Amino acid sequence: MSWRDTMCGELSAADVGRRVTVAGWADTRRDHGGLVFVDLRDYTGKVQLVVNPERSKQAAEEAHDVRNEFVLQAEGEVVARAPEAVNPNLPTGQIEVQVDTLRIVSRSTPLPFQLDEENVDETLRLRYRWLDMRTERMQRNLRTMHVAVAAIRRRMDELGFIDVWTPSMTKGTPEGARDFLVPVRLQPGNFFALAQSPQLFKQLCMVGGMDRYYQIATCWRDEDLRADRQFEFRQLDLEMSFVEREDVLDVLEQCVVASFEALGREPPPRPFPRLQFADVMRRYGSDKPDLRFGLEIQDATEITRSSQFGVFAGAPVVRYLVAPRAFSRAELGRLEEIAKEWGAKGLAYLVNDGGEVRSPIAKFLSEDELAAFTGEPNTTTLFAAADEATVARVLGGLRTHLGRELDLADRDTDSFAWTLDFPLFERHEESEGWTFVHHPFTAAVAGDEHRIESDPGGVLGQHYDLIWNGWELGSGSIRIHDAERQEAVFRVMGMGAEEQEAKFKFLLDALRMGAPPHGGFAMGIERFVALLAGEPDIRQVIPFPKVASGSDPLTGAPTPMPDSVLKELGIKSTAEKAEK
Ligand code: ASP
Repeated sequence: MSWRDTMCGELSAADVGRRVTVAGWADTRRDHGGLVFVDLRDYTGKVQLVVNPERSKQAAEEAHDVRNEFVLQAEGEVVARAPEAVNPNLPTGQIEVQVDTLRIVSRSTPLPFQLDEENVDETLRLRYRWLDMRTERMQRNLRTMHVAVAAIRRRMDELGFIDVWTPSMTKGTPEGARDFLVPVRLQPGNFFALAQSPQLFKQLCMVGGMDRYYQIATCWRDEDLRADRQFEFRQLDLEMSFVEREDVLDVLEQCVVASFEALGREPPPRPFPRLQFADVMRRYGSDKPDLRFGLEIQDATEITRSSQFGVFAGAPVVRYLVAPRAFSRAELGRLEEIAKEWGAKGLAYLVNDGGEVRSPIAKFLSEDELAAFTGEPNTTTLFAAADEATVARVLGGLRTHLGRELDLADRDTDSFAWTLDFPLFERHEESEGWTFVHHPFTAAVAGDEHRIESDPGGVLGQHYDLIWNGWELGSGSIRIHDAERQEAVFRVMGMGAEEQEAKFKFLLDALRMGAPPHGGFAMGIERFVALLAGEPDIRQVIPFPKVASGSDPLTGAPTPMPDSVLKELGIKSTAEKAEK
């Protein structure tokens, strides 16, 4: 006899009278002293088994032992439930299976948590991920992942992209994070870096005439783990030859739409809005604004030039937000903390409490200022006064926080958009020099190339980001395909000829041997699917993720290695041995 001939969730009234064999997990068991009811579950759903000692003594004896999450096989007949026993909440709720033979295939020790328990500690869920995976939530999430990735692969294939494998063990790839290193036994003292992305290999594929490359590529970045970050993650990574920016954006939009359609969801309208970096930074204080709500930043610089309030008059830029709520002192205290985390010295505000203005700074402001800045009744005006970048950071941070806190986003809309025209370089945080905004292989916009070295801060790059509801889904750019331009960018970043040779000789050589114009993109698969699944973080769509401390609760990795192993690799650990 085969293990099963029917899936649990697929039985319906149309099957009444059929003999079936089903197999799965005991979801619940109810013993009514005589009759035993078991909800049997597989990935398609649940069906009720009824074990009646008068029908089958064997099944009744076996059913006595059944506990939650035992694996069972049952053979019997599909019957209609009595009208009063119909369960409208269960797709199979009109029928049940009267069991003739029941077999316990596998037993389970007592469970560390129940599958229907809410708010189970996440580390516990991950420690027993195989149980957690049986929940509806994880079943749905991992299957959503599959459907989206399959749709993307189909669309990429239709568009003429070919799947080319690139190495994981490589040389450092500058994507702005730390590398994970792999020691090499055959060359003690030498290390591979795990690829932060296939960036340079995909560009070399273009020089190699592959024309359209893609990969669902695993990437490794040694960064602090967050809701949208893991050490290892996957990207829809693509590169195309002889294209302009719009060609690349079009491919990505098609992949997004294909995924929505494969999941039976209304896709977002195309083309996605195109936003300018400078504009979104001014209006939302972020290059990935959540556009499902307004709360736009407004400018107060001009009006405050001659303000009696010195903080305003002396600041290069003064801007504000009008939040739709009259905040209490305690709430304002918390908002000030947040503003300080983003670099503000303090938080000036005007509360319009049902028409009455509460504010420690009101007495310094002129009537014109008060009239301009005071919002409608039951609002709070929050100010930032500093240099342009700090003002954007502070008000952008507050805007995001308030959006969440006051639940401002319309959850029924999906807001996709592109951010375009980023600057090519920005000031390095520590040194006074310049560093890349995207990565060093991004081309300047046409017309700006000749200024790369004379005016790095004024050059725009052909870099674009895809955003969805305030999350950055990915980035890409049109690349430099000319060795001299590439060298100029490296020079701006303070890299002399020798360092360029040491780090990027292979790229410069390739760019000198007939490189076609090319550009590409990488979209974070887990971020995309987490949003598709309505999950707040990417761990919920990753089968075996790590927790914030950087460990895997399931295997216990990472673990120390014996000295003998390290010695063979030419490594000596200087870390204090963890206490036993
Ligand atoms: N390599 C870039 C990244 O991983 C994406 C790209 O420019 O194609 O973000």
